[in-house]
Amino acid sequence: MDATSSRRLAALGGHLVSASAVSEGGGAVVNEQMAGLGLNDTAATGSGVQQELQRLLEHDSFEERRRMKELMKSELFIPRYAVPLAEERELALQRLRVLCHSGNFRIEDFRVDPMRIFAAHECAAFADPSMATKMTVQFNLFGGTILKLGTQRHHDLLLRGITSLDDIGCFALTELGYGNNAVEMETTATFDAATDEFIIHTPTPLAQKYWITNSAIHAHWAVVFAQLLIGGTNHGIHGFLVPIRDKQDLRPCPGVRIEDMGHKMGCNGVDNGKLWFDRVRVPRSALLDAFSQVERDGSFRSVGSLEVLQALFVVREGRLLGQLVAAMKEGRSGPQASPAALLLRRVFDIWMRQQSDTVQHTAAAFAEREVLEACCRALAARSLSPALRALLEPVVRLYALHRLEQDLAWFLTEGLVPLASGTAVGEAARALCRQLAPHYRTLLDSFGIPDHLVAAPIAGDWAAYNEADNQGELLGQVW
Ligand SMILES: Cc1cc2nc3c(=O)[nH]c(=O)nc-3n(C[C@H](O)[C@H](O)[C@H](O)COP(=O)(O)OP(=O)(O)OC[C@H]3O[C@@H](n4cnc5c(N)ncnc54)[C@H](O)[C@@H]3O)c2cc1C
Repeated sequence: MDATSSRRLAALGGHLVSASAVSEGGGAVVNEQMAGLGLNDTAATGSGVQQELQRLLEHDSFEERRRMKELMKSELFIPRYAVPLAEERELALQRLRVLCHSGNFRIEDFRVDPMRIFAAHECAAFADPSMATKMTVQFNLFGGTILKLGTQRHHDLLLRGITSLDDIGCFALTELGYGNNAVEMETTATFDAATDEFIIHTPTPLAQKYWITNSAIHAHWAVVFAQLLIGGTNHGIHGFLVPIRDKQDLRPCPGVRIEDMGHKMGCNGVDNGKLWFDRVRVPRSALLDAFSQVERDGSFRSVGSLEVLQALFVVREGRLLGQLVAAMKEGRSGPQASPAALLLRRVFDIWMRQQSDTVQHTAAAFAEREVLEACCRALAARSLSPALRALLEPVVRLYALHRLEQDLAWFLTEGLVPLASGTAVGEAARALCRQLAPHYRTLLDSFGIPDHLVAAPIAGDWAAYNEADNQGELLGQVW
């Protein structure tokens, strides 16, 4: 692995020197040029530190990651570009099948070791973003929902098949008319006490399930979210397990209409579709009932009452977000006739309409603080070698300074950073870049991306790659 990034960088550096120099064995020229730019690793960093840093970055599931990267050496994983839509989708599925059958992760890992599933996603994304998207819908959205909202009977039916891909699923939340505002969705699940079934129905064109990943071609099952109606009462949105295709011939089940959404701007290995349900009947057991149950007589039970949940959410928001709390306090001073409903409306109004920018800004600030704290924890760990600490500390400072620079206007106008310091932020970041440049090799190699997953002739033998007509494809090419 050590020589990998040097080779790639030397090839890329070759674009800075004349073509003749490269064809005349320009590697040495390139290395000289890079040394001139100060871009050669110093003795202070080397393979020991690189391996330690790679361990830190791949801090979990190291062996599983290594095995998955190794698996992706096979020809199946070489990127293919000018292929028909159907083939691209089939490729994504076949690749996913190889990873799923490798035994490196399974859906139950969400209970015992979720990092293994996240590591699988990271590895999958190196090779094929479409495969990674299909994986995340199968394991996170579909599988995760079955695991967390479903109960034993759903687990017995599906967990094994989710891991092996014998049961492919999709997650049908979004509707044409209801994306971010999914809580207002129209799809209904009406309990029919006479037959002990739910009737899943799409009442209007706006209620069709829209953009549903895996649904156009591959999914056998859908977790369908719908308004639960029992005897004229709406109990809110719940998830239902609905078979949408015959597992043998893959034809849509009766009453289920599936439309393919076709070509997209990218990720065409992902089959997105639209789903319509025409009074599709499913047994009462189709309700994912970990938190809400419907009894045989139609009586409904739920873990938390809506009032308690509303109060919980208000408290959570209040504690997390100081600025929004101030606005909410204003809201609480209104009429007392219906405090819960009034408060909810007020919170919604503030959150979605008045403070939308602040909410998003706060979310970014929260994430950046989390990242910085995690980095500082890693730096403070006793197990870290002095050499790696010396390398990482400026990397972490560069991250923080870069983010500070991005948001400098806010820090300056809030008076948190004096003007003189603010002016120096950009130069401080660039000085750190210069300081870190000689260690590029160690830093790059620590990401552990093997050559066979780079798939970029420009970082390989680009001259050899362009000797023959390859139509821009990589399969069967030397480069
Ligand atoms: C490739 C792809 C795959 C998908 N796969 C699935 C899937 O498997 N299952 C599924 O259920 N859904 C899926 N979706 C749908 C996806 O979840 C929705 O697109 C998403 O929830 C946004 O909804 P929308 O497209 O209706 O956008 P809208 O909700 O109409 O939003 C449009 C724009 O307005 C902004 N906006 C909306 N409301 C507010 C607000 N209150 N304040 C500020 N800005 C606002 C949004 O940020 C966005 O920029 C997929 C979508 C795509 C593109």
